Amino acid sequence: MIDPFGRTVSYLRVSVTDRCDFRCTYCMSENMTFLPKKDLLTLEELERLCNVFINQGVKKLRLTGGEPLVRKNIMNLIASLSKHLVAGRLEELTLTTNGSQLSKYAYQLADHGVKRLNVSIDTLDPHKFKKITRWGDLGQVLDGLNAANSAGLDIKINTVALKGTNEEELKDMVNWAGSKGYDMTIIEVMPMGDIGSETRIDQYLPLTNVRNNLAEHFTLEDIEYKTGGPARYTRVKETGGRLGFITPLTHNFCESCNRVRVTCTGTLYMCLGQEDAADLRAPLRDSEGDEAVTAAIHEAIARKPKGHDFIIDRNTPVEPVNRHMSVTGG
Ligand code: SAM
Ligand code: SF4
Repeated sequence: MIDPFGRTVSYLRVSVTDRCDFRCTYCMSENMTFLPKKDLLTLEELERLCNVFINQGVKKLRLTGGEPLVRKNIMNLIASLSKHLVAGRLEELTLTTNGSQLSKYAYQLADHGVKRLNVSIDTLDPHKFKKITRWGDLGQVLDGLNAANSAGLDIKINTVALKGTNEEELKDMVNWAGSKGYDMTIIEVMPMGDIGSETRIDQYLPLTNVRNNLAEHFTLEDIEYKTGGPARYTRVKETGGRLGFITPLTHNFCESCNRVRVTCTGTLYMCLGQEDAADLRAPLRDSEGDEAVTAAIHEAIARKPKGHDFIIDRNTPVEPVNRHMSVTGG
């Protein structure tokens, strides 16, 4: 699958549910309306769709959400997809998770060939953690991380930089991640979906400032490390750990984009930051064979846009993408 700008699409992110056991302030409003269950692809349909993408050249698959590990019977899907790892058709199967269910699932994930996980933690202060996630419990997530560690999974911590919230703590988190042997990525907050009372401008912290502040405490050496994602990595000399920066706003990362995203209703988004999408559920449900859905995927890839137009400023009060991150997955 090659898009109009010559980029080969080999990375698929699948949001397996829009539901979540947390309500992070930058991601959701407290009173979210979730999709009706009948609109969701069944696990069997999700598997079939993933199989089609793998047949068309997807080599890396990331399950995300919402919270992927709260989807009922999600391990059945992971078990089915892991067969592609064994057969060598898929190079990597990973997840992005809030970590709340890892104590329960870490060993099963490792058994199914998952080698690394992205776990999202924005603070190590239990009170702040509750404030940011509204419903989350830091202790439970840290227990989950320990379980993942014991199961031999490599961990990358995802931390969204939030103005006035975890700004002062990022240095301690870099030290903590380094001491645990976790990679860490700091993410710039993206303007996606209505989040209720807070405004983006109150949350937005440009990563150029974050990096400059961290550079006062650490020696950050640019490295070529790539995971297939959009982060640019540095090596923190003092901890030996890797630290990535995802900067959709201060530095557009679209040139090397190899990704597309499918939602739990089977909608294919060719870009996280654009509205254009293709419905794959109808062609999937309307025929037993895969020809129609394969054709729909290729038609959509032929329209993959060059990049996104995220902007956060006081003159742009509406969210440019009226879709929560939990719909398309991070
Ligand atoms: N629930 C899982 C988790 O939190 O890791 C997976 C889904 S979550 C939508 C994926 C990632 O997107 C998380 O790291 C989260 O912090 C990040 N995220 C959510 N909303 C965001 C926003 N508006 N801007 C930047 N990152 C966001
Ligand atoms: Fe849930 Fe992840 Fe969104 Fe937080 S960031 S509300 S954990 S989907």
